[in-house]
Amino acid sequence: MTGLTGRNAACSVKWCDETGMHAVHRKYLASVKGGINGAGVVGVNVAQRVQPRASVCVELTVTTPWASTAGYLLATPSVPDIAAALSEAADRATELDGTRERRD
Ligand SMILES: [Zn+2]
Repeated sequence: MTGLTGRNAACSVKWCDETGMHAVHRKYLASVKGGINGAGVVGVNVAQRVQPRASVCVELTVTTPWASTAGYLLATPSVPDIAAALSEAADRATELDGTRERRD
């Protein structure tokens, strides 16, 4: 690198996948077709706002065909709790879905 920062220049933050101007440094980690009937994509990224002393956190994004991509920055210490809650909700949903058939 020469130190010139063109529009498509790679970011100076080593782990960042973004190029050009961006407000958030981002490393794309996972992309899951998580919507009902495969309609949406849930992305998981490592992200950090481009501002002094911003902490590196986890970003969750939701992309659907009918709306612009929504993103949310999660505080890193909370992520294991959120992951556990998601797993528990999924277990509960699977369980409830299974009991639906046998109700009659
Ligand atoms: Zn960056």
